[in-house]
Amino acid sequence: MVGGGFGGAIAAKTLRLINPKIEVILIERNRSYSALPGANWTIGGSRRIGENRLTYDRLEGNHGVRLIYGEAQVVDAAAKTVVLEAGTLSYDFAIVAPGIGFRVDEIEGYAAAETPDLFPHAWTSGEEIVVLKRRIEEMKNGGLVVVSLPTPPYRCPQAAYERVSQIAYYLKQAKPRSKILVLDASKSSSDLADLFLTGWRRSYGDMIEYRSSQQVLQIDAPRSSLRTTSETLTADVVNLIPPQMAGTLAHRSGLIGEDNHWCAVDHSSYESTVAGGIYVLGDACLGDDQQKSASAANAQGKACAMHIAGAIAQRGHQPHFYSNVLYSLLDDKHGASAVTFYRSEGRKSVRVDKGGGVSSEWSELEGIYARAWLGSILAEMSS
Ligand SMILES: Cc1cc2nc3c(=O)[nH]c(=O)nc-3n(C[C@H](O)[C@H](O)[C@H](O)COP(=O)(O)OP(=O)(O)OC[C@H]3O[C@@H](n4cnc5c(N)ncnc54)[C@H](O)[C@@H]3O)c2cc1C
Repeated sequence: MVGGGFGGAIAAKTLRLINPKIEVILIERNRSYSALPGANWTIGGSRRIGENRLTYDRLEGNHGVRLIYGEAQVVDAAAKTVVLEAGTLSYDFAIVAPGIGFRVDEIEGYAAAETPDLFPHAWTSGEEIVVLKRRIEEMKNGGLVVVSLPTPPYRCPQAAYERVSQIAYYLKQAKPRSKILVLDASKSSSDLADLFLTGWRRSYGDMIEYRSSQQVLQIDAPRSSLRTTSETLTADVVNLIPPQMAGTLAHRSGLIGEDNHWCAVDHSSYESTVAGGIYVLGDACLGDDQQKSASAANAQGKACAMHIAGAIAQRGHQPHFYSNVLYSLLDDKHGASAVTFYRSEGRKSVRVDKGGGVSSEWSELEGIYARAWLGSILAEMSS
């Protein structure tokens, strides 16, 4: 198993819970994990980033998952091995959950090493949000923050709208003459988009300006300027979220499907359709019409673990049914959610028409549920 995020850590734990005789090795590059859900709230000030940090101690201590800390170079489907910096591991089943990478070559002037320091994306780890938060705190009252949303599919669009809300919540209190310009490369890529737009108008007046179909084509980060499909502008703080693809390991391991960006999988088991015996979970795999999320990665991790444990026990394959539950906060209290149900049908994951839906209003009750959901999913990963 490679990748100890929301998909990989839960798949590892579930395999051991179903059958403690299965030897599970989790390869992860970092010794701790800084979760993204709830990390936006640190900008608004209602959470501390330390609350999002997890370690893998309990996966090892309580469940007997063996941790190897290091970078997996490639998973070789033909040889059934994972190549690490320090050697090679053989496997019977490989699960890969490497998260996302960025298609930075689609933005002229983007330098992979330097640009994230100047225009932080804060999209791969909760810890990165600390830098973005500091930039906003250092900005003058009356400054301009640009938040640029990429073309879909990308990791958790709803979180991008939540990011804007949390920046606005902070600015309204600390620097009320400031503005936020949202440049969305598409149009309303989240199920909650309309509710966000209404909430922004009501809570933040004209502080937020939202423009759809505004793709960033070129940047000059040292001069803090960017060119979109229709204009060139400069800003005090730029939160540039680049277009995305599956994490590098997926590309190196030949797991990418016909779209050239994301891993192609059989959604009944999460086995790759291009490299048999390797299973791909979470944001790296094509979500059909699913929003890439921690909630979906967690559900996929369990479904995949059940499939592999079933295969080891020579049990027949069971179709699965699961939910993708996404909460957001508009400020420090008011929450809303989008809930979707899916079932596997053949090799596809199909959205179930009945059940689920989106909140009709921001409410304190859903704010409480949002914090409870986060507490529960983080506890599941670290207990
Ligand atoms: C600001 C923000 C807020 C969000 N809020 C929510 C929310 O409220 N609800 C929700 O459901 N989702 C939310 N999400 C989405 C959620 O964070 C992701 O969907 C989720 O992290 C995907 O899990 P994953 O396991 O696929 O990838 P990740 O969580 O990115 O985990 C991948 C892991 O693999 C490791 N790795 C990668 N390559 C290698 C390698 N070669 N060798 C070793 N290790 C490797 C990485 O270090 C990492 O630990 C949010 C996202 C953002 C950006």
